[in-house]
This record gives sequence, structure tokens and C-alpha cells, in this order.
Amino acid sequence: MTRNYPYKFRLEPTEEQKTRLKHYGFTCRFIYNLALDQRNLSRDPKPLPTLLEMWEKRVADREAGIKPERKERNFEEERKQEVVHKNINYGFQSPQMTVLRREVEWMQDVPFSCLQETLRSLQTAFKNFFDRVKKGQRVSDGRNPYGYPVYRSRYRLSIPFKPANVSIKKVSERAGGEEGAYFSELTVPLMGSLIRFRQDRPVLGTPKTPTLKLEGDGKWYVVILTEQEVEDPQTPEAEVGIDLGVAKMITLSDGTIYPLTKKQQQTFTNIDTTEKRIRKLQAACDRRKTKFSKNWIKVKRQVVKLKHRQKRSRESLHHEITHLITSGFGRVAVENLNIKGMTPSASGTEEEPGTNVAQKSGLNREILKRGWGQLVSQLEYKAEWRGGEVIKVDPKYTSQTCSKCGHVEKANRATQATFLCQKCGHKENADVNAAKNILTRAEKQ
Ligand SMILES: [Zn+2]
Repeated sequence: MTRNYPYKFRLEPTEEQKTRLKHYGFTCRFIYNLALDQRNLSRDPKPLPTLLEMWEKRVADREAGIKPERKERNFEEERKQEVVHKNINYGFQSPQMTVLRREVEWMQDVPFSCLQETLRSLQTAFKNFFDRVKKGQRVSDGRNPYGYPVYRSRYRLSIPFKPANVSIKKVSERAGGEEGAYFSELTVPLMGSLIRFRQDRPVLGTPKTPTLKLEGDGKWYVVILTEQEVEDPQTPEAEVGIDLGVAKMITLSDGTIYPLTKKQQQTFTNIDTTEKRIRKLQAACDRRKTKFSKNWIKVKRQVVKLKHRQKRSRESLHHEITHLITSGFGRVAVENLNIKGMTPSASGTEEEPGTNVAQKSGLNREILKRGWGQLVSQLEYKAEWRGGEVIKVDPKYTSQTCSKCGHVEKANRATQATFLCQKCGHKENADVNAAKNILTRAEKQ
């Protein structure tokens, strides 16, 4: 099976490189919008102007002080009109672009292949649009229900390259800060210099169109879509419920408790220790009367570093665990915890006021909660890769319900660790009992 896998790295261009990238980006945008203008004329009975003629008219208009007219479009109405110029496609526009580029000096600084790829992406945009119309697949309720291609904005620039024209070279073993990160350089045609960036993993597979992008945050990124050959996934038959524990990270309905291995336990303990250090340093910062002093800044920086390290450890631990779970189970049931709605004080829920605090509270629970959203989203995409699914269930009373007879009572929870049914006498590890309830709920959904 081939899988498309995207890589994205933030570039660290110099000021000079930024200027040049913007020039590339604006030129690609210009070509895209001009070619779109030409395609928009396909239903116009007048003879079709070439891209060069269209550009010349724009220049003449600007010199004469004529502003380009902007009229409200009715995409659905336009679609009913007859197509007069039938073959305005990539093959038609590409040679015209070549002619235009030969005449316009500022376009010549931009690699020819970038402009070609830009026309190709317009072609793809139209192909996708026609496919949607054919299938009756609406993308919005507005004026443009099938997503007819629109002009590109000046705030999100995009420069597509041919894979052969872009190369990445590792230039140092370490890039500081992030663990495992190293510096690489990107070769871009006609750029004159290499663009530096931080990489944290190698690009595997066959790269398809690499693209340099200026995004909404004002930063440049390189996005490389690759095609990777992976083994056909086997969807595991088994199903499992997962409970977010107190002392332990998570408990599965089959009795497995994570962190499982010594190494995982160590990582987990490290996350915990780091959290305590962060809190201590933060408290010290808050107590200080003079903020922004040299020492204050130093401590703040330390906090940022620790947080980052904690984030990376948590992430890799999650990857390990979610990999194990999704390779063993095809259907995974989890608690649907509204992460946003949880307050740091954990003052309990409406149904179980206070009991939540007593049962599942403390620093550990805090740390676990913070990672829960990430853990679930990892489970979701990994399950999808294997053709499995993740089911989110209502977590209400899962800790007070007997997984054997279904009896719900607060007293069922004899201690924090043990579940003892007051009705049928079923006795079990409290977290395993809860995980079983979560699985049962998913089966009913
Ligand atoms: Zn029972």
C-alpha cells in the first residue's frame, strides 16, 4: 500500500532570502491569478486573448488610470452558460506563460519550473472542481457550492517546485534546544544561497512536489509530500476500553497498565519530576518583586526549556503506547473528556460533585489530562491507518458502575484502587473495571 506522508519544517531564511522568496511567491501568485482570469473567459464569446495580451492590457490600463473592475460573481449562473473556449488547460497555458516570461523581466528571476508547477496546481484545482460537480459533492452552502477555483491571497504565498530541483542536506548534528534536532540546508534554484532550517527527522519515501509556503503566522515553511510504500495494514479484530487512571497513566480493559516497561515508567516519572520543577520555578518567578530582571529572565527561560523537554518526552511516550494499542486492537473505546472544560482545580462534575476530586485528583491526574487530547488524536490517526476506529463514550459514572451486573453506586468504589460491587460482590481493580465499562458503552453505540 502506498501512503502519502507530509513533512513540514519551518525555514529560517535570512532577510535577503525572505525578500527573494517573497518575489518568487508573488510571481507565482501573479501567474496563478492571471491564468485563472483567462480560464474565467471560457464562456466569453469574444476571441480569447493570450496571457501576454492580458498582461499588456493590464499594464496599459494601469498607465491610463483604469482600475480593474471587480464584479460579484454568480458561479452557479455562470455554469449554465455554454463553454466557448473549450481547451484552456495546462497544455494550452504553459507555452503562453513561456512567451509571457520571455517578455517580462521580473518574471525571469523566478525559476521557470515554479511557474510551470503553479499552472499545474491550477489545473489540479479545476480537475478537482469538475470532479465535485460530477459527483454532486458540495463544499459550501454559499455562492460557490462546488468550490470553483478562486484568486490566491497575498498573505498566503505558495511556491511549488519540481522534486528534482530541491534538495536537503544535513549540515550539523545538533541544532540546540530540541532533542534530536539538527540543522539542514535547502537548495532552491536561482536562490543564490542555501536556506537553513531545523529538522527533527529525515524525509523518507519519494518526494512529490515540494512547496515553500508563507503562512498566516508570517513564517516560511517547506512542505514535502512524499509517497511511502508501507505494508498493507491488518485491522486487528480485538477491541479494548481505555480508562484514564490516577496513579497510572492509562488502564486497558484487558488489565494492561501503562506505563508498562521500565523505560516507559522512567519517562513517566521524568515528566512528573519536570512538572514539579516547573511549578517550583514558576512560583519563584511569581514571588519576585522585580520582574524582567536578569535573574528573572534566566529562570523564565529555564521554564520554557523544561516545558519543551517535557512535551517531547510525553509525545514519544504517547507514540510508543498508541502504536502498541492500535496494533493490537481494531476498536478502541475511550472516555470523551472535554479537555477545555476542565479546570486546574478539578472541582468535580455536576453529577459527582467532589467525588472526582477525591477519586481522581492531584498532580498526576493533572499531567495525564494535559496529555489526553494528544493521546486520543494519535490513537485516532493510527487506528485509521490500520482500518480500525476510536469510539468516544460518555465517561459519567464509569468508575461507580459494576462492569459485571451494571449496578451503579458510589459505595461500589470501596477504595481508590479497588472496586467492590455492593449488589453482586464483584471485586476488581477499579481502573480495569472502569475500562470495561467504557468498552461496554462503545459496544452499545
Ligand atoms: Zn455488580
